[in-house]
Formats: sequence, structure tokens, C-alpha cells
Amino acid sequence: MKIGLVKEIKVHEYRVGLTPDDVAAYVNNGHTVFVEIDAGIGAGFENEEYVKAGGTIVEDKQKLFDDSEMIVKVKEPLPQEYDFFHEGQILYTYLHIAADKPQAEMLLSKKIKAVAYETITSAEGGLPCLTPMSEIAGRLAAQEGAKYLEKPFGGRGVLLGGVPGVQKGNVVIIGGGIVGLNACKMCVGLGANVTVMDISASRLAYYDDLFGSKVNTLFSNRSNILKSIKEADLVIGAVLIPGAVAPKLISKDDLKLMKKNAVVVDVAIDQGGCFETSKATYHDNPTYVVNDVLHYCVANMPGAVSLTSTLALTATTLRHGLAIANKGLEKALADDKHLLNGLNTYAGKLTNEAVAKSLNITY
Ligand code: NAD
Repeated sequence: MKIGLVKEIKVHEYRVGLTPDDVAAYVNNGHTVFVEIDAGIGAGFENEEYVKAGGTIVEDKQKLFDDSEMIVKVKEPLPQEYDFFHEGQILYTYLHIAADKPQAEMLLSKKIKAVAYETITSAEGGLPCLTPMSEIAGRLAAQEGAKYLEKPFGGRGVLLGGVPGVQKGNVVIIGGGIVGLNACKMCVGLGANVTVMDISASRLAYYDDLFGSKVNTLFSNRSNILKSIKEADLVIGAVLIPGAVAPKLISKDDLKLMKKNAVVVDVAIDQGGCFETSKATYHDNPTYVVNDVLHYCVANMPGAVSLTSTLALTATTLRHGLAIANKGLEKALADDKHLLNGLNTYAGKLTNEAVAKSLNITY
């Protein structure tokens, strides 16, 4: 199969859909890989590395699209990219089309066979191509929170781990799923005083088993949230109700209870955020202040650590990409129901029920 690896054009998106090692894997399976010039630069991969792996560097983006049967990307196509696609092409990338009708219409009108990383499932349960990004975002949330607590970045001037004889910083993590767990591991590692809140008793019990007395667990309800944020130096928002916008758990007025120059990192911002005051920010200007509380609300946090993110993402996507290339899309889908769950559009039809429902388009 002829595969086209595209350079991402989204603002501050440095990840790439295939590493040079991945390109070598396709080439060793008898495929041709066209690599858009500088596609991997943001993640630290030079053009020469792709050439050594057997890829062909292409400068003309339109030619790369024209010559490729399957396009591999990281982010959804942006409107500036819509015209490059041709009818019947396979697209393998994150799509998130449930909230992106223009993109859905383009994929349907061009009869693109689109497989979305985020809806591929696995035999173990869960969404294997999303999990690594949540792990990264959770770990980064702790790192960014610690950084923005530093005075020069606008924070309270608190070191999360304290030092002997001086109080540790207080971290409250709301939502103890994958993001929350990874944020917790990092905050515990830094020596902070950590409280994890969730509505799931079994999830809180899991934390108790894992961390023992190193972590406080609390049911997430209004009264506990208000009590906890009063003492917090850093609050990390990490809730998810699958398929729904995030619940607003902390209002603008509630922020007045918090310490001056405390920090909130709202990782759930890609689902609307769990603070009333959250609005999506970008890596070039990630923070703003409301009621003396510094907000960090970057919606594509993993893009900041593009090398780690690329390696983590491609480790989960390569297997299915190779199956599509080796067997052809239709046979690969017929053989693997988990890959089939990733198919979002085919021959002008939406093929994922949840996505179709949220777009109000016939399934
Ligand atoms: P997850 O499903 O693993 O965990 C979500 C947790 O939230 C669950 O344990 C659930 O019980 C809990 N929860 C639900 N309602 C709650 C409430 N009212 N109070 C407290 N807890 C509640 O999800 P995840 O993978 O950890 O993702 C969390 C969020 O982070 C999602 O919105 C996801 O899209 C987002 N995310 C953002 C980025 C980014 O770059 N900003 C990156 C990755 C993931």
C-alpha cells in the first residue's frame, strides 16, 4: 500500500504519526511510505532518518495526498487540509468528529474511509490509543502545576514537596481515572500532600490500596470539594463522564475560597472543563487569572512533550496501521472488531453510533 505521512499544521502540535522505526516497519512489509518534508522535526526526527528507514521525502503536500492510499496523521484534518483529500482515501488519525460537523461533512462527501484512534477498543477494555495521552496529560498536570506555583510564573511561591521543617504543598485531584492516577503518582513523588476525590468508591479504594497513608481519598461531593479547595495550593481537574461535557464542579464564586495565587490545572478542558471559569488555552499562552487563581487549561497538553507523546502514541497505533496496509482495510476490519470500532466514516456513511448520535446524522 502507498502510505502518506503528513506534517501537522495545528498550532503548537509537534507530534508526528509515524517514527522512522515505524516507517521501516511498513517498508519491511512491502509498502511505500511518502513522508512530507519536516513531518517529524517537531518530535525530534530528521528527514534523513526517514530516508534511512526507507521512506521517500515529498515536498509537495498535494502530490503526497494524490499518491497515497492511506494518510497517517496525529490530529484531525483542519479546514485548510480538506481539499487535499481524494475520494475513497483511507485516513488513520485522531478525528474527534463528534463535535466537528464541518469535518464530518468533508469526510462523508469525499467518501473517506476514516479510522479514528480515539474509538479503537481493545480486548482488555478501554481505549488503547487514548490511554497513553491521558497518562501523559496526568503526569504533565503535576509538572505544570508545580511550575506555575513558582512565584515568577504567577503562583504562590510554594514548593510542592516542602523541605524538612516546612509544610508540604496541598494538591487536590478531582477525578481519579487515568489522568488522576498519573497526576497522583507524580505529586506523591514530589512529596506533596495529595487528596484524590472521585464519585466511585471502588476507585477510591484502589488508591487506598495503592498509596496507603501517602494519599487522602474523599468522595467527590459539593461539601468535600469546597472544604478541600480552601486548603489547596494546586487543584487538578480530571473528571470524565464518557460522552458528556464535563460537570462544572467549581464555580467562579467558589474560587474566592481558595488561597491567593493558587493554581488550577483543568485537564478536562477538552470536554469543556470542570471549573466554571475554564476556557481552552494553547501552549504559547497557557495561563490566565480569575479571582486571584491562576488557570492552566491547555487542551492538547501531550503536544508539549512531543517526543514522549509520539513514541507512546505510535506504539499503540502501528499494529492496526500495519494490519490495514497488509490486509487491506476491509479485511483488517472484518478480522478485528476492535479496529472496526475505530471506523467512523465509510463510503459516505457514518459508521460509529455514538458519533452519529452526537452529530444528529443518520447512522
Ligand atoms: P477516566 O474515565 O479514566 O477518569 C475519569 C474519572 O472521573 C473517573 O474515575 C470518574 O469516576 C471520575 N468522575 C466522574 N465524575 C466525577 C465527579 N463529579 N467528581 C469526581 N470524579 C468524577 O478519564 P481520563 O482518561 O482520566 O480523562 C480525564 C479527562 O482528561 C477527560 O476529559 C479527557 O478527555 C481529558 N484529557 C485531556 C487532555 C488534555 O490535553 N487536556 C489529555 C488527555 C485527556
